Amino acid sequence: MAIDFSFPPEIDALRLKMRDFVTEVVRPAEALVAEREGDRRFLVKSIIEMRVAAHDWGLWLPHMPAEYGGMGLGHVAMAAVSAEAAKSAFGPYAVNAQAPDEGNMHTLLHWATDVQKEKYLRPLCNGVARSCFAMTEPEVAGSDPTLIQTRAVLDGDSWVVNGHKWFISGASGAKFAILIARTEEDPEIPQAANSAFLVDLPSTGWNVVRDVLTMAGHHNHAEIRIENLRIPRENIIGSRGQGHLLGQARLGPARLAHCMRWIGQAEVALDMMVDRALKRFAHGSLLSEKQGIQWLIADSTMELYQCKLMVLHAAYKIDRGEDFRSEVSMTKHFVANSLGRIVDRAIQVHGALGYSLDTPLARMSQQARWARFADGADEVHQWRIAQRTIDAYKRDSSTRAATGDLPL
Ligand SMILES: Cc1cc2nc3c(=O)[nH]c(=O)nc-3n(C[C@H](O)[C@H](O)[C@H](O)COP(=O)(O)OP(=O)(O)OC[C@H]3O[C@@H](n4cnc5c(N)ncnc54)[C@H](O)[C@@H]3O)c2cc1C
Repeated sequence: MAIDFSFPPEIDALRLKMRDFVTEVVRPAEALVAEREGDRRFLVKSIIEMRVAAHDWGLWLPHMPAEYGGMGLGHVAMAAVSAEAAKSAFGPYAVNAQAPDEGNMHTLLHWATDVQKEKYLRPLCNGVARSCFAMTEPEVAGSDPTLIQTRAVLDGDSWVVNGHKWFISGASGAKFAILIARTEEDPEIPQAANSAFLVDLPSTGWNVVRDVLTMAGHHNHAEIRIENLRIPRENIIGSRGQGHLLGQARLGPARLAHCMRWIGQAEVALDMMVDRALKRFAHGSLLSEKQGIQWLIADSTMELYQCKLMVLHAAYKIDRGEDFRSEVSMTKHFVANSLGRIVDRAIQVHGALGYSLDTPLARMSQQARWARFADGADEVHQWRIAQRTIDAYKRDSSTRAATGDLPL
């Protein structure tokens, strides 16, 4: 039989090593940081120490090739280690596989010139630089990048850019941005209007207005006014009009990387739900003995099982160079929604404790909320999924190809 649901021994060993690393190194550091909330210097020191430890454990940069100091794992193997790393919010940072840097690394690896790779990708991989990805604008729907208003105009050897961005994660303190701006006035197709640029930071004309305050507090999601920013002509990534193509190529694996981390979070929530149900006594029995609570556990278990299968299958398709767009869309939608439901059920079983900040559940719930619209809103994914299903039926008189094209 060709289908094998086990990992090769060396990948399984890495998965377990990542679990031990998170238990022995990351979780204790996370607890110390929580005790000193607001102490930014201590936070930075702790992340540096975790990163040194990640090198010692052989767990640095799992998603990048050895040429850049990484472990060279494919997407399926990444699913194994990433879900373990994400069981602590700091895990991905410790191994340098956090958003948005992870997605930016993939973008640069596949699209940048050799010179751009040396200047921008290598420092990112070495952990001495951070980056951001600047696409969304407050004035137009982020779901539709053909509406982007930020403009880049060629002037001699420079692009001159004017525009307005917001929710740019990690912008403060980033050494560079990948900026998406409109360069083509009359493209053949609307998707070919934008181009991607590398912007050194800080730069004159790149003005951070504020850190947008969200329901989860301040998390370095910046609003940026771009005024007569000059970017060297050679800092374009790919060619003119390829911004959308590049964004899509980036977003597929980046969306799946989010799903891998969300699986780790969902598993923590389910573990906590069961642990609490086994310990809390009310109305004559433990919560775990009550059917109402068992339903919450059962629904969460079934959903998490589906999440894992979907992530592994989408990762498998990316690794094999097959068209993964539909599978990543379905996976992103399903995992984002499952995460929200599972965390919410865990909060329910914990009662007031779940609503407090004494457990990680409340913070996980805030993160789970944005998962449903960032990197593709639910409805946009549903629209695309339905389109592909209808197309498959029109083509084959069957919807089979749209349901993962599995041998069933
Ligand atoms: C925590 C966080 C971090 C982020 N980080 C970044 C970042 O680093 N860089 C960056 O560029 N952006 C970032 N974003 C922005 C994010 O990518 C956008 O929020 C997302 O693309 C949606 O765009 P929007 O917010 O403008 O919503 P809109 O596009 O205005 O959509 C709002 C709602 O409209 C509905 N909708 C939209 N299109 C359709 C449709 N075709 N059919 C049916 N309904 C539809 C959906 O319900 C959607 O949720 C971040 C956002 C958050 C919350």
